[in-house]
Amino acid sequence: MIGSPAPTAALQERTCGTCTLCCRLPEIDELSKPANAWCVNCTAGQGCSIYDSRPQLCRDFLCSWMINLQLGPEWEPAIANMMVYGQGQQITVLVDPAYPAAWKQEPYATQLRQWAVEAAEQGRYIIVFVGDEIFKIKP
Ligand code: SF4
Ligand code: SF4
Repeated sequence: MIGSPAPTAALQERTCGTCTLCCRLPEIDELSKPANAWCVNCTAGQGCSIYDSRPQLCRDFLCSWMINLQLGPEWEPAIANMMVYGQGQQITVLVDPAYPAAWKQEPYATQLRQWAVEAAEQGRYIIVFVGDEIFKIKP
C-alpha cells in the first residue's frame, strides 16, 4: 500500500530522470505557481534552473513513486502521466491534463480502487485531480 513507504530502498533504485511533473502539476503557494502551469524556474525536459537555490519545499518533496517500491514501474510519473503523493490522511493523485483519462485506464483504475480500500482501513482516502475536476475514489 502506498501509505507504507520504504524510502531508502526506493531511492537507491529510482531517480527523477527528465521528469518535471512536480514542477508543473501542483499548486505551489510559495512560488505563486498555479496548478497545471509550469514553474517559471523550470526548463522542460531539463529541470530546475535555480536548482542550487530552489526553495526548501522543493528540496523536501519526493513523489510516492520515488520513495515507495510498492508503486510499480508503471507508476513512474513520466510513464503514468500522473504523480502521487501523501498529504496527511489524503493520498493525492495529480493527472496531467494532457492525458485526462490516464487514471481511468488499466492497470491504474484497478490499483486505485484497491488502494482506496486499503486507505479506508487506515482512515485515509484518495483524491484525483484532473484540471479543474476533483474525484474521490470509492473504496
Ligand atoms: S513527480 Fe516524482 S519523479 Fe517526477 S520530478 Fe517530481 S519527484 Fe521526481
Ligand atoms: S523552483 Fe525549481 S524545483 Fe521548485 S517547482 Fe520550480 S522548477 Fe521545480
